[in-house]
Amino acid sequence: MPSPVGRLWELVDAHGIDTVLLAAVDVQGRLKGKAFDARVLLERLRSGGISPEMCGYVIGTDLGMTAPKTGEFSWENGFGDVALLPGLSSARVLPWVPGAVVVFAAPVEDSWPHPLAPATLLTEQLTRLAGLGLSAKVGVETEFVLYEGAARDAAAAGWRGLRPVTWDNRDYALDLPGPVADFGRRLRQVLAEAGLPVEAVKAEGAHGQLEVTFPYGSVTAACEQHLLFKHAARTVADEQGLTASFMAAPATGVGSGMHLHVSLHDVDGLPVLTSDPEDGTALSELGEQAVAGLLAVLPVLGPLWAPYVNSYKRFADHSFAPSRFTWGRDNRSCAVRVVGHGRSLRLEVRLPGADANPYLALAAVLAGIRHGVEAGLKPPPATSGDAYQNLNAPPAPQSLAEALAAFETSELAGDLLDELVTAHLARVARLDLDHHSARVTDAELERGLTQA
Ligand code: GLU
Ligand code: MG
Repeated sequence: MPSPVGRLWELVDAHGIDTVLLAAVDVQGRLKGKAFDARVLLERLRSGGISPEMCGYVIGTDLGMTAPKTGEFSWENGFGDVALLPGLSSARVLPWVPGAVVVFAAPVEDSWPHPLAPATLLTEQLTRLAGLGLSAKVGVETEFVLYEGAARDAAAAGWRGLRPVTWDNRDYALDLPGPVADFGRRLRQVLAEAGLPVEAVKAEGAHGQLEVTFPYGSVTAACEQHLLFKHAARTVADEQGLTASFMAAPATGVGSGMHLHVSLHDVDGLPVLTSDPEDGTALSELGEQAVAGLLAVLPVLGPLWAPYVNSYKRFADHSFAPSRFTWGRDNRSCAVRVVGHGRSLRLEVRLPGADANPYLALAAVLAGIRHGVEAGLKPPPATSGDAYQNLNAPPAPQSLAEALAAFETSELAGDLLDELVTAHLARVARLDLDHHSARVTDAELERGLTQA
């Protein structure tokens, strides 16, 4: 049995690899790190040399890599390094990056996983759930919009005149334009070659919108898979002269979601959301507690589902994204949809946008489920009709500012995630808020230039 480093050498030799992408997950859910010369890195790992390092601020900055003024990763603290501990068992050839393997790495502080790294937050919630004798399996279903033209051209055009690859509602359409079908096929091929087979690529309702689903799996594997899928989608799009966007609301009236399908299992791996695993559609008591816990945390963990100013423009009535905190049986107007039957019975959490970091969104889901079970909560009545009209249910926040206020003042958020973590995520959210509050937008000019 080769050692983990030995296994990586074998992979490097067998596939003619010259590059190791040592990848930490940043707070936005992007892969950040360095492209190492494969043999230099492997030699260093084999000889027990010092760990690779990177500037720790990737765990604490915003989409635009703003240098924060305060907090752990800021000018106040000199922008120090974190060590990166390679998780060698995560090594995987990336067919869409010539000659490269990716290795996920954990940011480490004083020899411990960094307490603010997204993967650490997720592991913490998995461990606490395991303390209740429960484990989760998830399927991540993400929508995104594909545009004609490479991203550099869109940037050069000031992001104006974007042309989605389809120009009408092609929900479930199988007659997609050639370049769109080619994109989907190449994406499926490279991901399958990487050992991350896609379940299906589906055309969605908004112009240029696609949805990708993956088979069910472990929570951490689903997160790694999601990040690699986004990396592949962006790269394949670029190769084909297209641009893939995972913004939650890339245009007015367009929403891209990241729906999280979650099932719960006991220590023997048996499903526990229903008491009839043969064919049940009704929730068990534990299933109801899980739903109630989710409904309790959806309003107060906003930055983990919807991290940006833009994210909140997706929560519109009758958009298929939720606008109220509701649940229901196979009801797509709800924030939590109970779907499937028997062993496949699961909770679909529909609040997170395609822009969410799955490590954080899933940490929030698990924290909510744990809260519901620990407190023995009971959910309100299920919504069977149009949940957008269920005025008894609390509305989703209209803005990041509103969500942030709820997050920062919530005792529950602090208890479930730890106050160090909530303060950190609030600081990150505020960077996005500050960025936008200082900017004059096209919409303001359009409305006010001649009329104000
Ligand atoms: N695009 C919708 C959203 O933002 C979801 C559409 C669907 O039901 O798949 O969540
Ligand atoms: Mg969809």
